Amino acid sequence: MQTQNHPLLSPSCGTHRHVTSFHFGTAAATGGWPGKVYIQSGLHAGEIPGMLVSHHLKAMLTEAEAQGRLRGEVVLVPLCNPIGVSQALLQYPVGRFEFSSGENFNRYYLSPDEELATRVADELGQDEAQNRTLIRRALGALLDEVQPQSELASLRLVLQKMSCDADLVIDLHSESEGLLHVYAARGQWERVEALARYLHCPVSLLADYYGDTPFDEAVFMPWQNLRRRFPDKPIPYDSVSVTVELRGEQDVSHQQAIADATAIFDYLVHQGLISGTAAPLPQLPYPTTPLEGSQTLIASVAGVLAKLLPVGTMVAEGDQIAEIVDPVTGHCEPVYSPAAGLLYARSLYRFVKRGDTIAKVAGSQASKKARLLDA
Ligand SMILES: [Zn+2]
Repeated sequence: MQTQNHPLLSPSCGTHRHVTSFHFGTAAATGGWPGKVYIQSGLHAGEIPGMLVSHHLKAMLTEAEAQGRLRGEVVLVPLCNPIGVSQALLQYPVGRFEFSSGENFNRYYLSPDEELATRVADELGQDEAQNRTLIRRALGALLDEVQPQSELASLRLVLQKMSCDADLVIDLHSESEGLLHVYAARGQWERVEALARYLHCPVSLLADYYGDTPFDEAVFMPWQNLRRRFPDKPIPYDSVSVTVELRGEQDVSHQQAIADATAIFDYLVHQGLISGTAAPLPQLPYPTTPLEGSQTLIASVAGVLAKLLPVGTMVAEGDQIAEIVDPVTGHCEPVYSPAAGLLYARSLYRFVKRGDTIAKVAGSQASKKARLLDA
């Protein structure tokens, strides 16, 4: 294992942060898929479960490397957002948005689609592997030319540079409260499904795009755009990108983290990156659903959140999910599910203001929505 430190731009005098990455194996030692895997956790710095999963995964990868089992490279970044993890307001950690800019740490990654298309247009051929090499080189060169102007921009760039040549990218997050679930691009589900199955994932949300360029979208979108732009050229469904929401922010335990790390490790064995016999592949507990079918229930009034159904409840359209009690007026506002499906996430807080998120239901029917992700 090699350790690398990646300095961020200093935001002010006398302070300097960096991101630490751990590197196992060597890239594409056998030329199979995946030759390089990139895994990070804590991009939303208040979402802790992934950090403990990475801690256990690091030990497993260290052992596998010592046993000579790695057929490719794994880059692991257990704490990928040192800015967010240092933020607190009145003793409460704030890890989703950067204080300085107000921006979500997981939005606005670079997706230089026009420039990338221009640079590779004349060289794309009929050999998919050569096209992959060409596109990766061009993408890497484009990122190398970027001059970030803030600490946050330099953080985004560091993470993109480490992952832009990976075949597979796994981004570990968590919900406020929730069941384990994954987000993946529809065209890449074939590659991702085994991970969801090893994780016994009850909710798999698929989409062609997410909007506002979160990290995972920035990984696959350049390739998706090139495929649309050059339909007569074989362009692979790279880079495969999956975001895993490791239940709720409070679901932090060694027992669970070891189980999740083992699932990820088993997946890497199954995919051939680590030699050995793959563990039997469990069935997917619940079919995939479109991200466009995920319904976010928003509080229409303020009050105490009562009668909130637990995550994992199957609901029908029109079922009552919660009640919002105004303790001053005594008014009790029922909250109904707008769709049938699995209640897979809910608020950690039991007092909501008008406009706050109450819960999410994974419906099977796509609906037209202005934005697919929350703020
Ligand atoms: Zn997150």
